[in-house]
Amino acid sequence: MKLTILGCFSATPRTFNNPTSQLLEVKGNLFLIDCGEGTQVQLRKQKIKFSRIKHIFISHLHGDHFYGLPGLISTFHLLGREAELNIYGPKGIEEAIKLLLKLSNSWIDFPLIFHELTSKDSELILENEKVEVRTIPLDHRVYTNGFLFKEKEGERKLDIAKVLNYDIDKAYYQKIKKGKDITLDNGEVVKNDEITLDPMPSKSYAFCSDTRYKRDVIPLIKNVNVLYHESTFLEEHQHLAVKTKHSTAKEAAQIAKDATVETLILGHYSTRYGDLECFKEEAKQVFEAVELADDGKEFDF
Ligand SMILES: [Zn+2]
Ligand SMILES: [Zn+2]
Repeated sequence: MKLTILGCFSATPRTFNNPTSQLLEVKGNLFLIDCGEGTQVQLRKQKIKFSRIKHIFISHLHGDHFYGLPGLISTFHLLGREAELNIYGPKGIEEAIKLLLKLSNSWIDFPLIFHELTSKDSELILENEKVEVRTIPLDHRVYTNGFLFKEKEGERKLDIAKVLNYDIDKAYYQKIKKGKDITLDNGEVVKNDEITLDPMPSKSYAFCSDTRYKRDVIPLIKNVNVLYHESTFLEEHQHLAVKTKHSTAKEAAQIAKDATVETLILGHYSTRYGDLECFKEEAKQVFEAVELADDGKEFDF
């Protein structure tokens, strides 16, 4: 998986800080996660081909997570897009986007498909042969979901030296990769695990957008490779985190620790703090493997 942070600051766009948006590449699929103002400019800077984006996930309808979406859809239209676009987000997102399109008399030529979310429980919202995506219900001032992206397990790998010990026709290789045993002409059965190796372990990524400290997410994100968790505040402003339904760096680290994730990425920083390192230092007191999101930063895992 490859994660590109397009924006990771809370509240308003500023000269050098963009509101939340991320791009996740999973086995050839390109997913856009949240779409704050300025996202399309950030995509341009990363030289992303717009037509490759077919699925957009919006965590909640606060401006810093979705005000870039109408502009992006409009640009897709102006560029002559034909490919369908799927948008997953809270109930109301379809009405909001369609109203803007209607008032500006902009008729979209490509299929625009909305998948409105209302459930308070985690649900499977996208599945194809490579990946599945589930919601992570969060606790914020408005209805909010995070998203869990999981690669599906790949094919088994042929242990070619062992395969060649037997008289197996190449036509059966595809079946073997899918885990099937093979019966030879003489009736002997060759067990699949004798001639194959385990596939690469499948990777997972959890995006926890704006949320109050919520321990219910722990079983949903258990053992993920990478967890992005918002950390709007430091502990010294914990009262503000409670009041505005956000988290502190220490709370994000506690979630990462209890979910035994590999790596925690912090973001959605309040711009009241000058140096981002203070978020990392606070989180590291609880959980060692901490990274800081920053606009334009990439993570490969
Ligand atoms: Zn926000
Ligand atoms: Zn919010």
